[in-house]
Amino acid sequence: MKRKTGSSVKVWMVGSIGIDDVRTRTADRKNLMGGSLPFSTAAASFFAKTGAVGVVGSDFPAAFDRRWKKFGIDLEGVQRKEGPTFRWACAYDDNMIERATLKTELGVFADFMPELPGAYQEAPFVLLGNIQPELQLHVLNQAKGAKFVALDTMNLWIDIAKPALLKVIRRVDLLLLNDSEARLLTGKWNLRDCADAILKMGLSYVVIKKGEHGALLFTKKAVFLVPAYPVRKLIDPTGAGDSYAGAFLGYLARAGRVTDRLMREALIHASAVASFGVEGFSLERFERLTQAHIGKRVKELKAMMSV
Ligand code: AMP
Repeated sequence: MKRKTGSSVKVWMVGSIGIDDVRTRTADRKNLMGGSLPFSTAAASFFAKTGAVGVVGSDFPAAFDRRWKKFGIDLEGVQRKEGPTFRWACAYDDNMIERATLKTELGVFADFMPELPGAYQEAPFVLLGNIQPELQLHVLNQAKGAKFVALDTMNLWIDIAKPALLKVIRRVDLLLLNDSEARLLTGKWNLRDCADAILKMGLSYVVIKKGEHGALLFTKKAVFLVPAYPVRKLIDPTGAGDSYAGAFLGYLARAGRVTDRLMREALIHASAVASFGVEGFSLERFERLTQAHIGKRVKELKAMMSV
């Protein structure tokens, strides 16, 4: 694996860190490294030096730490607390899209109060992963050098913490969410109407993800369609959205600036990286991924898109 391991963190991400059990039609895997943060930071690490902000408990396996570190990720922002690590279990339907959550045990994640290490404070790129909106605001307030902030969320926060979520939305540049979340957030059905409503909430960009059907980037002036790479071996879709967001931010962090053109490239790279992630459980496919694999898949995607 060839990683960007320069000294200073260019992008940091906050999110959950967990131990997952995942059941699919053909496999039943227990005690996998999971949570949104391992997926997002691993995906970002292919492009830029990435910092992680999260919490683990005393049962977090040392082997997970070692595997995570191999991606060249800075783990100074990962707090170590007495108590159990966040645990989650799910079972996928045969269609590998719908899933039932079988277990959510918050453990030390319940009292998580993210703190930004000094070394991350000047980092220009930020991904506020899927945690309580109040905590996203708390950690964003420490990000003095942030120039481009992306926000990920989920239906739970739209349901139970919408006012706080709207506060965070006003403070960020881009929101990533899936189509059903966009509809829930805006009360509208048509996705262009959803995007218009979200752009009016005070940010410049919104990415609406549609799973295996790709994603749409909306700016105030344009729409960009990003296809999903049609994978042949779908093993485990868990964390695909987190990987997508992580790779997207990582790509922009490597570029060091944001233009419409770079944003489109970032989304195509995100699509390619996320498509590898679902070809294995947990971070297993990323551990075997090279820059050459990513480059080849980006090329393939672009060829598939061209007329
Ligand atoms: P995704 O497939 O993008 O929904 O991400 C799945 C990951 O999110 C799993 O690895 C879980 O450990 C983690 N996760 C599931 N539920 C939650 C939650 N309520 N808060 C934070 N992380 C979660």
